Order: sequence, then C-alpha cells, then structure tokens
Amino acid sequence: RTSDAITGFESTFVDELTPLTVEWRGADVPDPQLLVVNEQLASSLGLDVEALRSDDGVAILAGAAVPADGQPVATAYSGHQFGGYAPLLGDGRALLLGELLDVEGHRVDMQLKGSGPTPFSRGGDGFAVVGPMLREYLVSEAMHALGVPTTRSLSVVATGRGVHRTGVEPGAVLARVAASHLRVGTFEFAARNGDILQPLADYAIARHYPDLSDLPTTGGGNRYAKLLEGVVDRQARLVAQWMLVGFVHGVMNTDNTTISGETIDYGPCAFVDAFDPAAVFSSIDQGGRYAFGNQPAVLKWNLARFAETLLLLISPTPDEAIAIATATLSTFDGLYEQHLNEGLSAKLGLADTFVDHALIDDLLALMAEHRADWTGAFRALADELRGRTAPLDLLLPREVSAPWLARWRETLADHGRDDDTTADAMDQVNPLYIPRNHMVDAALRAAHEGDLAPFEELLDVVTHPFERRVEWVKYTAPASDEFNSSFQTF
Ligand code: AMP
Ligand code: MG
Ligand code: MG
Repeated sequence: RTSDAITGFESTFVDELTPLTVEWRGADVPDPQLLVVNEQLASSLGLDVEALRSDDGVAILAGAAVPADGQPVATAYSGHQFGGYAPLLGDGRALLLGELLDVEGHRVDMQLKGSGPTPFSRGGDGFAVVGPMLREYLVSEAMHALGVPTTRSLSVVATGRGVHRTGVEPGAVLARVAASHLRVGTFEFAARNGDILQPLADYAIARHYPDLSDLPTTGGGNRYAKLLEGVVDRQARLVAQWMLVGFVHGVMNTDNTTISGETIDYGPCAFVDAFDPAAVFSSIDQGGRYAFGNQPAVLKWNLARFAETLLLLISPTPDEAIAIATATLSTFDGLYEQHLNEGLSAKLGLADTFVDHALIDDLLALMAEHRADWTGAFRALADELRGRTAPLDLLLPREVSAPWLARWRETLADHGRDDDTTADAMDQVNPLYIPRNHMVDAALRAAHEGDLAPFEELLDVVTHPFERRVEWVKYTAPASDEFNSSFQTF
C-alpha cells in the first residue's frame, strides 16, 4: 500500500550510496493508534498535521504504508559494541523512509524504529514496544529543548501487535528525524567493504561539513583530514553538553556515535540527580564502561575508531596518515575541556570571563561529596544572588558552601555585573526541569496502564525546561537515594 499523506521525500542516500542500503518494507500493522505526534516538528518540516493524523498518515508513521515518493531502505553499518567489533549490525528494526527538506531548507532523515524485521535483524524480532519508544520520544525532545544537538521524535504509533519481551508487550513504532543516520559504524562498515568509503566520506562532507567540499581530495589539509577535525570538534562539544545536563547515554557504541554531532539512540539512557561520575544505570553495562564520568574518554576512543576508517583517505603514506590522525585526536581533550569550562562558566554566571579552573573543580568536588542535586544546585546559586539562601542550604551545609561562595562572589565582582542581572543570566542556561528518572518511570507506567496524561504533562514540563510554573513544583525534586541506587534501564 502506498500513500501520499506525507510527500516530499528524496533519497540522496540511496541514490549515492546504494551498496549501503537494502530496499525494504515495514511489517503489517494490525491496529495502528497514534499515541503522540509532534506538531511543532511536523510544521518545521512543512508537513500537514491533519494529514499526519489521518488513517493514511498514521499508516506511514507505523511503517504499514509506503510514501508515494519514498524509497524505504534498511541501511548497513558495523560497530564496536562495548569495545568488541561487530562487522555487521545495520538497521535490524528500522527503516529509512527518506529525506525531507525542512522549512529552512535543511535536509533531514525520517526513519521508523520498530517497523519489523529486516535482513539485518540477526536474532532480533525487528519490533519495538510502547514504553521505550515513548521514552525515546520524551528524552530526545527534552534534550532538544535543553539545547543539546539530538535526533528528534515526530510520533509514536502503537501497532496493536503483541511483542515478546519479558512478557508480551504492546508494539510501537517511533518516527525519528535526524540530520542524518551516518554513524562511525557506517564508516567502519565502508572501510572494510570495498570502494564505498570515499563516496561515503564525500557524502558526509556535503551533508554535514559543506564548507569542506571545496578542499582538495589529496595532499596537505585535504577534506578528509578536515572531516576528522570537524567530527572531533562537534563530538567533543556534544559530550560536554551531556555532562553539563547530567545525561548518561548508556550505550556509547560506535554505531551510536553520529557524524553530524547529534545525540542518537535513547535506549538505556538516564539522568543523574546528584553529580556522580560513577553513575551507571544500564542493566547490560556490567563493567561501567559507559558510566557518566567515562563518557568523554569513551567518545575519544570511538573517534579513534573513526580516524582509523579514514587513514587511507587522509594520506597514501601510512606513517603520515597516522601522524595526522593522531595529532587531530590529541586535540580532543583540550576541546572537551574548553567546551565544558565555557558551559560551566555560563552556569555560574561567568560567561566570557576567565574562570580559575580551581573554582569549578572545587565546586564539583563539594557537590559530589555531598551528593548535591546537580540541576537544583545551579538554580539555588542564582537564588543565593537574590538573597534567598534556603535552596542552597538544602543541598550543601552552609559551613561547606560559605568559603566557596566567597570565592565565587569575588570572581563575580571582577565581572562587574549586578547580582540580579547575573542571576537572570544563570536562569537562562540552568534548567529547572530535566527528565528525572523516577518521573519518566512513573509516566511510562501510567502509559502502560493506558493513561497517557502523566506522559503528556511530563512532556510539557521537560520541553519547557527553563519556564517555572507553580503547578510543576513536584518536577524539580530529585528521586530518593533508594530509587536511584536500584534504578535500571534496559
Ligand atoms: P542498539 O544497541 O540499540 O544500538 O542496537 C544495536 C543493533 O541491534 C542494531 O543493529 C539494531 O538494529 C539491533 N537491534 C536492536 N533491537 C533489535 C530488535 N528487537 N530486532 C532486531 N534488531 C535489533
Ligand atoms: Mg543504535
Ligand atoms: Mg537502541
């Protein structure tokens, strides 16, 4: 069945990189029910919301109908999973419907997740279930509202299919919108499979780093060496932003590391309440490889796997290629520190100021030691400037905070802004609301029982993370330590 409820699809990925694709179709959908649709995102894509909500629109969003101008495919990729190489992963339960141009003319992918088995499904059933798809919808939209580059969520459709997990769960399909689905794993696949690597690199450059397209393909400063620099910079910035909002990705395999610099794959992710570098929530991350505080180091490791795929393009002389790649990778730590410190300085009301690292490091140490709520602490610091001391006192004993506060206030005085101006600037960058694990958990439990109201309310809260509303007061509270110590994601 085809439908023109959603039109405007292009297929440059399929046309230019055919060997990375397999033409495919979604599975039948017994009883499609639209659970949530992102009207703002739809409008920004120039899509007609009424058409999306129609039977045909929902059928496309569920994978049961093919867009009349679309060429749906499953794509191939490899990946290092928990450090071990898997030569063939690919879209085992996803379908790339094609690309759309948004109203600003940017090309984005629309992909369905949970649309049924593909040639890449290996042992999996190809399906997804309602809880995790609503979770990805909510957390990715929250990340976007927090200003973190991320894939977006357009809709979740319940399929009416029973899917076997620990018990039988209701099936669902998520429609995801991304700058692209090019991953480090896509390059790993191409590097080991013949002649597709250079076309893939040129495609990635044209789509994500168009300024590099004019550079030569060989010689010093060639476009592939610059592509590596570009991805290292964007990913260093991305992981710094994760750390600044307390996001634990949970499964930072190279197939979940994008070339665009967007966050992708919200499987076992979670947020920290207290700032805790050792925090791990994923049930499969036994060794803590992807613990909160390990994320920058893991990302650098993933970027090294990316660099390896580019060596032959960077230079025909192996020693030279390795020297260039190594030099670029070695910039990661400095870039990450710079992005992190800029972010932390802004959170402390000190944007564009020289901030002594010790001031930041000492605050982080105090917060970790006293398990102060990360999100709440920065709002409490702004309140402190407004003469309200109670919020901070709830998080850090005054005798502990006072010496640090004195140093912070000295730095602020050098900055020369009045306290109210600084406090207001801090509130612009420090969110009040993040998707706290216990809140997400409660909303998904209710959704599982058929009540979507808590999900819709939480979605409203976390997609307006800086907007204080009295009726939202319960959403600022961290979970109990009991909840957090036993909370697991899957
Ligand atoms: P992830 O850990 O979510 O990044 O997924 C890793 C790989 O497992 C990808 O190739 C997915 O397509 C595949 N995969 C995950 N869940 C399923 C499923 N239920 N059926 C088939 N493939 C799956
Ligand atoms: Mg993945
Ligand atoms: Mg996943």
